[in-house]
Amino acid sequence: MADLILPLDPSQRHFGGYVEAMGRQYRVSMACPQGRRGIVDLASFRCDPELSALLEARGVWDTLRARLAQTEDVEGFMAELTDVLEKVLRSCPKQDPPPAEFYSRLVSEIDAVGWSHLVSMDSLLTSVQLRERDAAGREHVFAISLPSNYPHSPPICSVDLPTHLNLRWSPGQSSLATVLEQFREALTPFHELWNVLDDLDKHTWVLEPEKPSRSTTHRRVAVARHCSVMLKIDPRAPGDVPEVRFLGSQAVIGPLREAYERNLFRWNHSLLVRANLEAALELKLPSPATTAKADYSADCGICYAYRLQRDDAAGDGGAAAAAAAAAAAAAVGAAGGGGGGGGTRGRGGGDESGGRGAAAEDAGAIPDRVCDNAKCRRPYHPKCLFVWLQGLPTSRVSFDTIFGQCPYCSDPISVKFAPNGQKEGRDELGLVDGRRQHTHGRMRTARKTA
Ligand SMILES: [Zn+2]
Ligand SMILES: [Zn+2]
Repeated sequence: MADLILPLDPSQRHFGGYVEAMGRQYRVSMACPQGRRGIVDLASFRCDPELSALLEARGVWDTLRARLAQTEDVEGFMAELTDVLEKVLRSCPKQDPPPAEFYSRLVSEIDAVGWSHLVSMDSLLTSVQLRERDAAGREHVFAISLPSNYPHSPPICSVDLPTHLNLRWSPGQSSLATVLEQFREALTPFHELWNVLDDLDKHTWVLEPEKPSRSTTHRRVAVARHCSVMLKIDPRAPGDVPEVRFLGSQAVIGPLREAYERNLFRWNHSLLVRANLEAALELKLPSPATTAKADYSADCGICYAYRLQRDDAAGDGGAAAAAAAAAAAAAVGAAGGGGGGGGTRGRGGGDESGGRGAAAEDAGAIPDRVCDNAKCRRPYHPKCLFVWLQGLPTSRVSFDTIFGQCPYCSDPISVKFAPNGQKEGRDELGLVDGRRQHTHGRMRTARKTA
């Protein structure tokens, strides 16, 4: 295997290189928040547009993603990628190179759109990347894979837009100019959306997603220490009030939510979401110009990481946390920590943080369950806190929530949970939506046998 993958930064969190399959090399890059030995962040995976178009055309993206999600480190990831790629390429019928007219036509079509729009093309000239600027001057790149009987068969386009591009194609009449025109048309409805999102990306600390693409319409924005807000912008009405969820310490988000609801009627559609949000919350959102991101992205008080590692999500780290919890239980016991009472704080309200489950797909989660004690405010991964509380004899369970004491200050703290390893129903924001009763039953059994 001649794959070559190298770290791109000193912290060894970003990797780039080439994957080789069937004698061809494809450029790939990826992020690995925990380093070479940790799980690869699938959302960060980028590859040659040629490879991307090929996988798209073969309809194997989903299979590939599912298999890559099982890998545990960069090497495993690359091995899996090569394996899938070999299979895909081998199953490709050996295609004859396109006829000479294909090339002369392609060159004249690129002439027609202007070579300044061309970003790259592969050696066989069957895969082309074009760029276009929108009205605000933002550059958008899309990949086009050309079948050998082009233009009789339409090309396949992969675009980074909040919607699909349904290419209209009439053989004999359509050309790359038609594709570019349709792409330009497809950009138009999203100008306002990208204005809103660019403004947030530029002037606030976006905690999630780590590297937003043009197709992602949600942002988790830092509001204050240990408090953030998840905004889901409607791509078709980006000036409207977005879907808002406050996350963080109840003591902090309570007053913010009140202010927000009090001022919501003032929402001004001619202003951007950030300005409206600041007005509604009666504060200025922390800006990268004047603050450090580290102030808003504190590590988990249990596992000491920011992004939840795969091991923590899958079991090993959980065991470590449980062991630590047992030790803490002893310490709390010695200090005479008083029972699990008062655990109702932090309950109620659909916005409560800690709505995450304990499944392996929690890998990469950020610590969003924050202690309500103003002097503590320690953030935890819901999964870490859940495992911790589970190990304490003073913890108690009510429906989908486990109540216990903060590992640092012993104040009451609670976290919602989902059964281990079970894929739960989530909305796009990664919030749990069901199976509460079932969870309850499982939890009880687990505690009885423990
Ligand atoms: Zn943690
Ligand atoms: Zn605390």
